[in-house]
Amino acid sequence: MVPRDDFARMKQIEADLRRMTKVFMDGADSIVIRDLQGRIVDANREVERVFGWSRQDLLGLPAKDLLPQEWHDLADQNMARCLAGEPVRNAEGVVRSKSGQLIPILSTAFLLTDENDQPVAIANIVKDITGLKQVSARLEQRNRELKQFVSAVSHDLGEPLRAIRGFVELLRDGYQDRLGNDAREWIQFVVDGVERMQRLIDDLLDYSRLESQAITFETVDCNTVLVQALANLHASVVESGAVITSDRLPTLSGNASQLLQLIQNLIGNAIKYRSKEPPTVHLAAERIDGGWHVFVRDNGIGIAPAQHEKIFDIFHRLHSREQIPGSGVGLATCRAIVERHGGRIWVDSQPGQGSVFHFTLPSKPAAAKDASAG
Ligand code: ADP
Repeated sequence: MVPRDDFARMKQIEADLRRMTKVFMDGADSIVIRDLQGRIVDANREVERVFGWSRQDLLGLPAKDLLPQEWHDLADQNMARCLAGEPVRNAEGVVRSKSGQLIPILSTAFLLTDENDQPVAIANIVKDITGLKQVSARLEQRNRELKQFVSAVSHDLGEPLRAIRGFVELLRDGYQDRLGNDAREWIQFVVDGVERMQRLIDDLLDYSRLESQAITFETVDCNTVLVQALANLHASVVESGAVITSDRLPTLSGNASQLLQLIQNLIGNAIKYRSKEPPTVHLAAERIDGGWHVFVRDNGIGIAPAQHEKIFDIFHRLHSREQIPGSGVGLATCRAIVERHGGRIWVDSQPGQGSVFHFTLPSKPAAAKDASAG
């Protein structure tokens, strides 16, 4: 006879097993169990719903047979990683359904072991990402169209503007003596307006190019970039009496001209949005996991917390052009640059207490990272 304690324990184990089997069979993702040779030994209901293969179709079948040929090498590599005890998470792949349709998936695989820690099987949890792929393809297409649109509009606006400017300047210079004071003033308004619009278009063009053009990475010494930025800002530094200091900045892999634009925009803003005090700006950097955290601190007018995110949106400005000139493209450009490098940008600030603009840059930029696969 089985002793009562053991009997209760067996009942408990049986109940646990029933519960786990239900979780396995009714799970919202497809789950496939393979033996150590890669043959399928079990599959849940979701596999049939998504891929059309019944459990009977699959039992004993090498899992690789469900993948198109071009995915076989990757599948072998992932299997080897799994067998070595290294779980493979969210690896992209493609599975052929029973009807022959190719279904994009994300698969997580890990080793199952027995009570002696010996490998017995491999579990694969497989997510169908068809919907996600479609949405992301549509978004990419929209984005491409939008960029083409911005770039076309900017080019097409530039030409008539140059014509307006040219003829108004001819009018101003050629008819000086015949124009009254009012007319001369109005002509100057036109020239100023055209100049402003030209700057706006140039900023927009720069912004749209950031996204549309391929980016190249090289080793960039940010200290050299800072020297260049200060040379470009020389006039406004002198005019405002700004004092700009910096700790040692990192040397990293990035795009030199974009990093120049980033640092120059942030310092330029720190000077532009100064308080009544002469501007002081300090740059510093610290190492973080996988890269660098750089910050630019100023003693300017500061920014209300409600605006901390919005100021990075294109055309979002907190001041009228009459108060402080600008196009509202600078920080959007900074964000696009940082994101293209695989980092993020944010601000800490309170009105009247200066601002600290922070950004992170990975040591290994996004475009140079290994393509996700596995
Ligand atoms: P712009 O300077 O052309 O207006 P930006 O995109 O560079 O455009 O900045 C957006 C807004 O963020 C600015 O209009 C300004 O109100 C605010 N801002 C940016 N930098 C600072 C700063 N260092 N201190 C205070 N406000 C700032």
